[in-house]
Amino acid sequence: MRQTTIIIGAGLTGLTAAHTLRKQGKEVLVVEKENRIGGQIRTFEEQGFVYESGPNTGMVAYPEVAELFTDLAAYGCKLLTAREEAKQRWIWKGERFHALPIGLKASVQTTLFSWHDKLRILAEPFREVGTDADESVAQLVRRRLGDSFERYAVDPFISGVYAGDPERLVTRYALPKLYNLEHTYGSFVRGAIAKMRQPKTPRDLLATKKVFSAEGGIQRLVDALGRSVGETNIVLGASNLHLQPSDQGWKAEYTQADGTVCSILAQQVVTTIGAYALPQLLPFVPQTLMEPITCLRYAPIVQVSVGFADVQGQRNEAFGGLVPSCENRHILGVLFPASCFEGRAPKQGDLFSVFVGGIKHPEVLDMNDAELTQMVLAELRHMLRLPADVQPSLLKIFRHRHAIPQYEVSSGARFKAIDALQSQYRGLIVAGNLRNGIGMADRIKQGATIIPQELADI
Ligand SMILES: Cc1cc2nc3c(=O)[nH]c(=O)nc-3n(C[C@H](O)[C@H](O)[C@H](O)COP(=O)(O)OP(=O)(O)OC[C@H]3O[C@@H](n4cnc5c(N)ncnc54)[C@H](O)[C@@H]3O)c2cc1C
Repeated sequence: MRQTTIIIGAGLTGLTAAHTLRKQGKEVLVVEKENRIGGQIRTFEEQGFVYESGPNTGMVAYPEVAELFTDLAAYGCKLLTAREEAKQRWIWKGERFHALPIGLKASVQTTLFSWHDKLRILAEPFREVGTDADESVAQLVRRRLGDSFERYAVDPFISGVYAGDPERLVTRYALPKLYNLEHTYGSFVRGAIAKMRQPKTPRDLLATKKVFSAEGGIQRLVDALGRSVGETNIVLGASNLHLQPSDQGWKAEYTQADGTVCSILAQQVVTTIGAYALPQLLPFVPQTLMEPITCLRYAPIVQVSVGFADVQGQRNEAFGGLVPSCENRHILGVLFPASCFEGRAPKQGDLFSVFVGGIKHPEVLDMNDAELTQMVLAELRHMLRLPADVQPSLLKIFRHRHAIPQYEVSSGARFKAIDALQSQYRGLIVAGNLRNGIGMADRIKQGATIIPQELADI
């Protein structure tokens, strides 16, 4: 048998895992159903605009992210971090965007939160620790910080990250760092201070709150991963892929674009695909074991990239704006990529990345292009005060049915089922964004660490 690891899916997780194994001198084969690598990550270039169909930016939240960019410099990928001037986040309230406060003075002055809640924060370190392990993000924030913080900070943040519903996302799964602040240190404030004071190794310091992309767009990251893994180690256009455990290891069978059926034997297999696609891939797994995994809900997102060739260089000095659900608008939020990074729009122009839909508005996915265009332009004009006579020179619509998995109360059972599956079928690793986090930084960290050394050492 070939001492190979098969990695299923050439998205960021699969490619990072393959890159990590290749660095250790191991043999890998990445099998991908599409004719391109990158999965949800894709950048387009047109008329002087550089725009994304999926993620726009990630956060250098773990050392693994910084280390990956260091590795990939040799393959032509250059890390870009967002301009300092564009770090401000906006929140929509009462017919205009407000800056999310940074620092004490701005926090006191902001009208986003009520005076009652601002004063309540002083008592946050002394509030009791919650006892409901499955407490939702909304419940936790209301309990510790107050209603206005839930509605005007956490709800829009959850829309921006999960396109989700804070009443249904369970804190210990969806925001484990926040959950641990309360459960390890007794309070958010005390936890944040303790974390700041903790001694840090040089490696710890690689993790920052910096927002990243890559020069030329985020696809350059996966393109560089593709080069590092090597073209010959990636199979594209593999349809009808399914796995079977056997005495000699794992047998993977798939159909190539030309109709040829291929079969490979490998020591181990790492899946990085969505929960909904696993039953077809793993037909031997009993339905009772698979059901807690496949019941995972995904938020749909429609992303609309809107470019204006000439706004006389008048750009917003911010990262973007988010919209709380209680404000009842038609968009989840809008990003300003040209404010964050050089070269994303023509010199005098501007680019917007508008997100609509999410778990609360799945019907948006079924709107046609004309309806979406009208809705998004009306919202952009109203919310950003764009003159009605200025027409976009670029408008692209991207629909994602399974955009973001929702770490709701079912997550505990899903993680247990994955553990059971992996211990029952040795050499199978079920990875991807169905666990260990949904952002690009989480995907990189998982890809870099998911394969245990004893399995890697084959
Ligand atoms: C609209 C949108 C906006 C986002 N915004 C952000 C953001 O701003 N910041 C951030 O950090 N993250 C964001 N994300 C999340 C981020 O894109 C993902 O975390 C990341 O790209 C997922 O990578 P992955 O490799 O785990 O999955 P994927 O990219 O989904 O890759 C899985 C791969 O598996 C392949 N595959 C599926 N089934 C099979 C099969 N049966 N056989 C073979 N191959 C198969 C797929 O074709 C795909 O290439 C966003 C996601 C979306 C959709």
